Amino acid sequence: MKQPKKMRALCPFCKKHTTHTVKQSKKRVRDTAHTMSQSAKRKDRHKRGYGGHGKYSKPAVSKKPSQKLDLRYKCEECGKSHPKEGFRIRKFEQQ
Ligand SMILES: [Zn+2]
Repeated sequence: MKQPKKMRALCPFCKKHTTHTVKQSKKRVRDTAHTMSQSAKRKDRHKRGYGGHGKYSKPAVSKKPSQKLDLRYKCEECGKSHPKEGFRIRKFEQQ
């Protein structure tokens, strides 16, 4: 899919069609906090010694073939931005 950098869209704040700049939001990187939490300790106990790791063997979130796109539309008149509902797409490029 090709997406222009600027396009006209409905601004929910101005309540009319204005030019918007479209940006793909960056993924937030989570830091690994709570290393000594009860659930983390339980996981460590499970992974010790012989045998399988039980429910910790499989990944917590299964990877899908395509990730949902997160687009942000920024109104040029009021400067506020609003998201668009994410949709799955294999290839995305901005013009
Ligand atoms: Zn606006």
